[in-house]
Amino acid sequence: MKTHPYAGAKIAFATMHGKEHLSRQPFLDTLGAHVIAPAGLDTDQFGTFSGEIARTLSPRAAARVKARLGIQLVGTPYGLASEGSFSSGLGFLVEHREVLMFLDQAHGLELVEGTIATSPLPPGRAVTAVDDALAYTTAIGHPEQGVVIRGGPAGELIYKDLDSPGELSAALDRMLRLAAGHPVTISPDYRAHRCPSRAEIIITLAHRMALRLATPCPHCHTPGFGQVDIERGLDCSDCGQSTRMIAADILGCGLCTHTVRTPRANQIAAPQWCDYCNP
Ligand SMILES: [Zn+2]
Ligand SMILES: [Zn+2]
Repeated sequence: MKTHPYAGAKIAFATMHGKEHLSRQPFLDTLGAHVIAPAGLDTDQFGTFSGEIARTLSPRAAARVKARLGIQLVGTPYGLASEGSFSSGLGFLVEHREVLMFLDQAHGLELVEGTIATSPLPPGRAVTAVDDALAYTTAIGHPEQGVVIRGGPAGELIYKDLDSPGELSAALDRMLRLAAGHPVTISPDYRAHRCPSRAEIIITLAHRMALRLATPCPHCHTPGFGQVDIERGLDCSDCGQSTRMIAADILGCGLCTHTVRTPRANQIAAPQWCDYCNP
């Protein structure tokens, strides 16, 4: 068997929320590489979900800075970092975007696998009574799914890491009393170790990244050949005009300019996606 370029390599996953556990198996099984988390890393300095520290970088830039820091701390050329963002633009649905970045400073590679999905978790809400809040936390699956309680005149009081229903009730009770009429909000904790649905997405991205790294560029043989773009424009089955439906994936190399166009299995779009047939 041909050994893979990353066989036996140490890969630093810049996380303090257990993401190394989510990626360890795919990287070991597919590449024979060992994913570890650097000790003494503070990723909160780049921003937190609960807002104690504002996020100023784009998700991709934040992932890059974290991955570089992990590389430095572990003393390996290889680093991973992921960055999630959650937004509830329309109020009812929360959109979860996650990027997983792999840096290989030996080959000069920066590869990204990303996903956009609707989070199964509802957005946060204001609560005025403990029972009110407990109905919400039960619905989202506490204690496996963590919650964040926020209150105070400027929302400056934040409770998280409430591991049992008892701790949660006590914290809610305390927050509602301290809030003295100011709103108290409760929302999901999106940190990977407190959010099983996000952890699942990071596992999926880790699988995709490991498979990508196992794929060499057909032209220059650099590892990590994979999707870099999509091509829209499937033809409508009724009128033949091109639609916004995806026609092909564009695979590319992280180092050279070689690309391969892979048409999608479905090569015709239903008229429901056509601006002409279904305006
Ligand atoms: Zn049409
Ligand atoms: Zn190449």
